[in-house]
Amino acid sequence: MVLKPVAVWVEKERLDGEIVDCLTIILRSKGCYWNRCLMCGYKKDTSKDVTMKDLIEQFRIALNKLNGAEVVKIFTSGSFLDSNEIPKEFRSFVYKSLSGKIRKLIVESRPEFVSEETAEELSSLDFATEVGIGLETADDFIREHCINKGFSFEDFRRAARMLRSHGVRVKAYLLLKPPFLSEGEAIRDVLKSIKAVRGLADIVSINPTNVQSGTYVERLWFKGLYRPPWLWSAVEVLRNAEIEAMCDPVAYGKSRGPHNCGKCDKDVAKAIRAFSLTQDPSIFEDLDCRCLKIWEKVVELEDYSRIPLALIYV
Ligand SMILES: [Zn+2]
Repeated sequence: MVLKPVAVWVEKERLDGEIVDCLTIILRSKGCYWNRCLMCGYKKDTSKDVTMKDLIEQFRIALNKLNGAEVVKIFTSGSFLDSNEIPKEFRSFVYKSLSGKIRKLIVESRPEFVSEETAEELSSLDFATEVGIGLETADDFIREHCINKGFSFEDFRRAARMLRSHGVRVKAYLLLKPPFLSEGEAIRDVLKSIKAVRGLADIVSINPTNVQSGTYVERLWFKGLYRPPWLWSAVEVLRNAEIEAMCDPVAYGKSRGPHNCGKCDKDVAKAIRAFSLTQDPSIFEDLDCRCLKIWEKVVELEDYSRIPLALIYV
């Protein structure tokens, strides 16, 4: 039986200030060896017995849709640079297949798989490369206790420096609103994290938490103990980012995804996506809704309604 990729689609992506087509491929792999993050439900897109042959077959199917796209993103619901998950020979096959066809390849990896060797393999290609690392937050306490990520800011710093010294671009994923943070704390945490990654990351991707099946976050959400972030919070972060920043509000408008009042979600999400491509903050100027005032109150008052996390660990 032929194992198909989890998903393949063409979307728009920024490349050297231009907006170009990007083929995005989600490959079914063995999955992330860590698999303990509180918000991550990507295990459902993986399969323990995926072989090298399966990966090649999936990639071949996906590549049929390249159709002149200049950027390719490959996600594996794990780490592209983890040779136990993605054999080195498969990575070589990918590089060879894309050679002469694209301008940029984007992959993802946990920092522990960024080594002299893997950085070197990405730097020796005839197209640009970028590695997305799920740092989530620059705050080690939040990353450990609210996300259970299993690596430190120092680990990220080491990996980012290694990649950049080989001419590989670094994208830092930042999680907007891990569990246990108030709306205001979540905004401040991302803005603080952006400052911390300046000089280490070329771009940040703000990922508003969505409630995925089978996760710890979902258990909290079922009990009414978690609400995904407001889309206004994502706008607030992007407006103040002062670095190239993008955001794809997955599941926006749904109770499981980042949402506002229901009436404005579509327009606000559209503006967030447009900003991600253009980096033009004037896109946000015309946005308005009656719920904006409610969000402002939430950000202002939520910290007073419970013990702010900041007070627990100082
Ligand atoms: Zn609204």
